[in-house]
Amino acid sequence: LTHEYQARDGAHHLHPFTDFKALADQGSRVITHGEGVYIHDSEGYRILDGMAGLWCMNLGYGRRELVEAATAQLEQLPYYNTFFKTTHPPAVRLAEKLCALAPPHIQHVFFTGSGSEANDTVLRMVRRYWALKGRPEKHWVIGRENGYHGSTLAGMSLGGMAPMHGQGGPCVPGIAHIRQPYWFGEGRLDEAHGMSPEAFGQACAAALDDKIRELGAENVAAFIAEPVQGAGGAIMPPESYWPAVKAVLAKYDILLVADEVICGFGRLGEWFGSQHYGLEPDLMPIAKGLSSGYLPIGGVLVGERVAETLIEEGGEFFHGFTYSGHPACAAVALRNLELLEAEGIVDRVRDDLGPYLAERWASLADHPIVGEARSLGLMGALELVADKATGQRFDKSLAAGNLCRDLCFTSGLVMRSVGDTMIIAPPLVIRREEIDELVELARHALDETARRLTR
Ligand code: PLP
Repeated sequence: LTHEYQARDGAHHLHPFTDFKALADQGSRVITHGEGVYIHDSEGYRILDGMAGLWCMNLGYGRRELVEAATAQLEQLPYYNTFFKTTHPPAVRLAEKLCALAPPHIQHVFFTGSGSEANDTVLRMVRRYWALKGRPEKHWVIGRENGYHGSTLAGMSLGGMAPMHGQGGPCVPGIAHIRQPYWFGEGRLDEAHGMSPEAFGQACAAALDDKIRELGAENVAAFIAEPVQGAGGAIMPPESYWPAVKAVLAKYDILLVADEVICGFGRLGEWFGSQHYGLEPDLMPIAKGLSSGYLPIGGVLVGERVAETLIEEGGEFFHGFTYSGHPACAAVALRNLELLEAEGIVDRVRDDLGPYLAERWASLADHPIVGEARSLGLMGALELVADKATGQRFDKSLAAGNLCRDLCFTSGLVMRSVGDTMIIAPPLVIRREEIDELVELARHALDETARRLTR
């Protein structure tokens, strides 16, 4: 069965973020079903999904309520659009629910089919906003190196993933990037290893100030960032970072876009990651955990400042997607939010599971090849190092992170590697004993990685 699927897959299927040729040669692992925090493959192995799919299966696998919400809606009205002054009950209810959960200054939402489309929408909205304010030249958007905002042309241009930018052709113009607040990767190496995390956070915010002055504040529309940078390596900024960034944006009257595609819906122990850091973003792109990944849906939560201008002064906004507010996706998202709320999952991440993971995860910091173990809510990272005393990395040619990831997978745990940073973001329904299992599987993979790299 496995070989047959692999051969047929290799013959026709071009996978996202995959070396097509290498995959066709090696074959993929075939995932057949899931239950709770576990997935199962075609060889009969059970694997703890330490990444919640792609950071999205917040409620975990096998939730009947979401299947029933989808089925009921597909029977009632499988599709209608929300273009040209039409609507339908699932879109109405979901918009209402999202605005009730969002911070009070956010009372509107624009629906999309994905996080990438949400960020394309963000770019169009911020430019439209300033144009309506009579300032069309204020159209530059500043993002961050190593940020991830999706794979469409606008999404990848807003993001700062060098390999994506480097694959041919120009990015969307009018987008600049500043350094990321990645203390382990950059800050501790600054100024002869002397910079404290807090000083580094300030320095990164100062880099934003510098970039704004370089471009001219009158030309800068918005700053976009993930509250915690996810795909870039689960990078929690130093505490000094966000307050300093907020002050810079206020000084120059620049909009803040907090990309909540990963951080939203409980991942960091709040409904939105922005709330953890005390941010009041003008725009918040959302997706993934919005439906716990059961059906594709995204959107942009729009704060009153921008919403009022678009509504009162904008006329028709020539923008939208066939599947904006898709009825079945909206019905599933609504049910998902109701379940997250009714089961107290967001609070449990903040008060119980997050602190529990933090304690267990920190125990991995003792491992000989771990330079740092950090976590916030149910997101964690390990930094692999060749020399614990100096924090020196493994030689790149060893691809230590990928080795560790593959060893994890074969021993029954999905972890992601970004370079030599190992990441976890399990479903939010994970239990304490499953966190114990996750940490033990990770430790086992670290042992095996160390054994292979140092023999
Ligand atoms: N924004 C962030 C922060 C993400 O992590 C992602 C996906 O990983 C996206 C946007 C893009 O979302 P999608 O893959 O649904 O287009």
